[in-house]
Amino acid sequence: MITDDNKAIVLFSGGQDSTTCLAWTLDRYSHVETIGFNYGQRHMIEMDVRPVVLAGLRKISASWDQRLGEDHVIDLGVLGQISDTALTRDTEIILTENGLPNTFVPGRNLVFLNFAGIIAYRRGLRHVVGGMCETDFSGYPDCRNETMKAMAKVLGLGMDEPFEIQTPLMWLDKADTWALAESLGGEHLIELIRNDTHTCYLGERGEMHDWGHGCGTCPSCELRRNGWTSYAAA
Ligand code: ZN
Repeated sequence: MITDDNKAIVLFSGGQDSTTCLAWTLDRYSHVETIGFNYGQRHMIEMDVRPVVLAGLRKISASWDQRLGEDHVIDLGVLGQISDTALTRDTEIILTENGLPNTFVPGRNLVFLNFAGIIAYRRGLRHVVGGMCETDFSGYPDCRNETMKAMAKVLGLGMDEPFEIQTPLMWLDKADTWALAESLGGEHLIELIRNDTHTCYLGERGEMHDWGHGCGTCPSCELRRNGWTSYAAA
């Protein structure tokens, strides 16, 4: 056994969910690394906000600053090559026949988790943490709890290490996610998430709304806005 139960790696995209997950992880584990992927996204804004959010988290808490370790950025351009979806092509976002938005890159999280597992093995990190959520995230099958349980088993068997996949947002809705952020990092974390994280599918950064930057109309902005509205009303 080479991995350490006090160490974790977080799938960190620079969005609201993964930023909240990262704060959750920094609250619990003594050493935390991050991993992000370039895969031919429609826009590079997510990749641009990542270092800004990381720097912001360091400023919120001295212990977070101390715990936050290396950030791994992995080039998975090949994923853009083999997927034909609205996230990687310049087409309109619509719901497809199976009820999934055409932003769905089939199996994307499975690929991400494999790479995170490989880095976790090399770096001695036991826990792989991600913002996967069954509650209101468009029903992506690679975000389901059952998928995560199976994936943890595959990583554990395939690398002979007792990896655990942690999904703190699995049963939360978007309002709960804002509330979780507040409980972890107070007003400072809420402000960091509002100002600096990026969720909009269209890569819109121009206008600043109550809930942050974004086009306000894509499915991702809609979720974020509705979550903020019910969080703010509570
Ligand atoms: Zn949007």
